[in-house]
Formats: sequence, structure tokens, C-alpha cells
Amino acid sequence: MSLIDIFSQLFQAAFGRRSFLTPVAKKFVLLAFLIPTLVWSNNVVIIIIDGARYSETFGDVNRTYIPRMNQLAQEGSYLDHFYNDSLTYTSRAIPALWCGTWTPVRDTVYNGSATNYAVKPTIFEYFRKQTSAPAEQAYYVLKYVSSLWLPSFQADYGPQYWPTFISQGSTDDDVLDQTLAVLNNHHPQLLWVYLADVDHGGHSGNWQEYTEAIQKADSIVGIIWDTIQSDSIYANNTTMFVTNDHGRHDDQHGGFQGHGDGCDGCRHIMFLACGPDIRRDFMATQYHRIPDLAVTALSLFDIVPEFATGAKIDELFITIATQTESIPPIPEEFALLQNYPNPFNPVTTIKYNIPEGSAVSLIVYDITGRQVIILADNYQDAGYKSVQWDGRNSSGQLVSTGIYLYRVAAGASTDIRKMLFLH
Ligand SMILES: [Zn+2]
Ligand SMILES: [Zn+2]
Repeated sequence: MSLIDIFSQLFQAAFGRRSFLTPVAKKFVLLAFLIPTLVWSNNVVIIIIDGARYSETFGDVNRTYIPRMNQLAQEGSYLDHFYNDSLTYTSRAIPALWCGTWTPVRDTVYNGSATNYAVKPTIFEYFRKQTSAPAEQAYYVLKYVSSLWLPSFQADYGPQYWPTFISQGSTDDDVLDQTLAVLNNHHPQLLWVYLADVDHGGHSGNWQEYTEAIQKADSIVGIIWDTIQSDSIYANNTTMFVTNDHGRHDDQHGGFQGHGDGCDGCRHIMFLACGPDIRRDFMATQYHRIPDLAVTALSLFDIVPEFATGAKIDELFITIATQTESIPPIPEEFALLQNYPNPFNPVTTIKYNIPEGSAVSLIVYDITGRQVIILADNYQDAGYKSVQWDGRNSSGQLVSTGIYLYRVAAGASTDIRKMLFLH
């Protein structure tokens, strides 16, 4: 008996009707039932690299400082549009990552030292409450800090569901040592690792220190992933997420030494995911935001966090729909896609879909609306189109750093998008 037959019987048992759907429609309904049940992950590891700017991680076409994560992106997925959409500093972004929502933070005194706590429940509390997991199943590993920021005291959640904190040492290497000890000795189902050195390197104003810290964090992510894959309890049923709390100012807004405002450098951050439920070698292009992390991670435990406002990042997951995804030979509708890479220097690719043959123009403009170059202006057949732009204007000169617009018109359809050229 096939899976479809089994689910067909379950469906009939549940709904008691046999023939009000066509066989094809029934198959889709049954697949919709089946999809949420397909989760292979039993464990989640989340690594936060504090304050790495996207232009030094996945925004760098050459992935100069993140060779391991670049490999892992081929085993898994990364988001090209993940953002800190609110406060671009650590003390507010980390609680938002924990809570799946931007949460107020309040002062308190705990075990004799002044600190603060998140008002909304955290990922640890949702996880431990809803799975009845003991504290040994949820770990939080970070360097030594004199006063830990705390999860919530929310009614029905709170300290009885907090994780086990390991706060020791002073460098990311120390955090790695503690992380490996926790993985090997306790095998928690939920592990959160916080790496602070990239942000320190950035604040030092020393480019070498900053980029070396990114390279160190990259190798730590690789070591943690290798450890997971060589551990019989974790291999093939563990999903790892790696992201940041914030970026750093882009060069037009003060450069890498600081952060804290709304510039694209501060907002745009990386998001990498690997695991048995994650699509392989996939770049997700939809806009996602910090509160989406906890919601997405908790979805692997089948938990919907009640106070969270983030959305599950569905794009990342293997489903029957994506496994059997067949791309129609001709696009069903007009679309202009985000260029890739973006930011770029000097070459980027622009893709668009046209559902029927038509006169097509693709024109690049600068931010003042002045035409920079015409990349297409001809009749084109229906199909999936891809055009490269080498960053040169119609006189053959390389354009200057900045935002450019590209506009496609095909028959009566038009769309326009932004891209960023960086020298
Ligand atoms: Zn900082
Ligand atoms: Zn900034």
C-alpha cells in the first residue's frame, strides 16, 4: 500500500466522504496533510555570531572570510534577505531572537546581581514547557559575563523552564570548548551558542581583528557541524541555524567600527540553515526578520510559540511540494526577481519571467532616475530569462558605488527593483 493510499484511507476515515474530490485534487489535499508530518530533526543548534556585517559574510561574492559556512550553504540553505528590522544593538536583538518577537526588557536583581530579563517567553521556555524536557535538554553557552541576561518571568513560563546556562571563559575558542563538552556530555535537544568576538573586533576599529574574528567564528561553526555529524545521537537528525543579532554600519554610515542605526549595513544579516529538513544548496530570497528565527526553530519541535510575532521561514524546508516541484516549461506569470549577487561588484545577474511573447525592455537607472544602460530592448519569446550586467554604463565606464534601479517592461507588465553596487 502506498503512502497516498494510507492517507487516502485516513482522510476517508476522518471525513467520511469518498468522491467529492477528483483524484488529482484529492492527491493535493492528501499531500497537504502529509507535509506537516515530515520532520526528521530531533535536535536544534542555534549559533549567534554577534555583529557580523552581511558584506563580510554571505554578501561577499567570494565568501572570503566564511569558507566553511559557504560550504555549509551548499549542504543547506541561506537567506539573502534576512534583517534586523528593529533595534540594531545586541541587548535588544538577542532577546528578540530568543522570543520570536521584539520584547520589552526590564531591569531586575537576580542572585544578588543587577541584570535584566525578557518580558516575553523565550524559545527555551516554549521548548521545555511543551516537551516536558528537563533543564539538561536545553543549554545556553556563552563566554563569562558578570550578570546574565535572563529569560522571562511570564506566568505559565518563567524560571522553571529556563535553559542550563554555561557562562565561562573569555573568547570564542573558550565558548567552542564549552559547546563541545555540552554536546558530548549532555546531548541537549536544544543548544544555543553565542559568539561575541566578531563584535569586539569590529568595535576595535581594526579591520584585521574584525575579519579574523569572522574567520574564527566560521571555523567554529564548521567544527560544531562536524561534531554533530560524527555523533551517533545527532547525525542526520539535527538542524543548525547560524545568524547575527545585527550588522555594522555600511561605509556610507560610519563603517564597520560601530552599529546601532537603521542603515542597510546595520540591518542586513546572514542566516544559514543546515539539516535533514532543510533544502540543499538553496538561496531563499524572500524578506525575513529576526523574530522569524525562534518560530522557525520551534516549528521543528512542532511548537507554535504563543507570544511570538515572527513567521516560520517556510522557504527553507523540504516538503513534498519542493521535492516533486516541477517547474512549468513556460512561466505562469510575469515576474522580476531580485538580482544576484546583491550587493555586487562588478557583475550581477538579473532574472525575469515572461508568460507570453512580447516586446521587452530591461533598463538600469541610477537613484536620480537617470538612465544608465539599456540591457534589453527587443521582442522575446515566453520563458525564464537571465541577463548579466557588468556594472558599466552605456559608455563602457564602471558605475560608482550606490543604489541602482532596474526596470523590466514586458507587454503590459512592468516591475522595478533596487540593487546595490559596491566598489
Ligand atoms: Zn556592538
Ligand atoms: Zn548603521
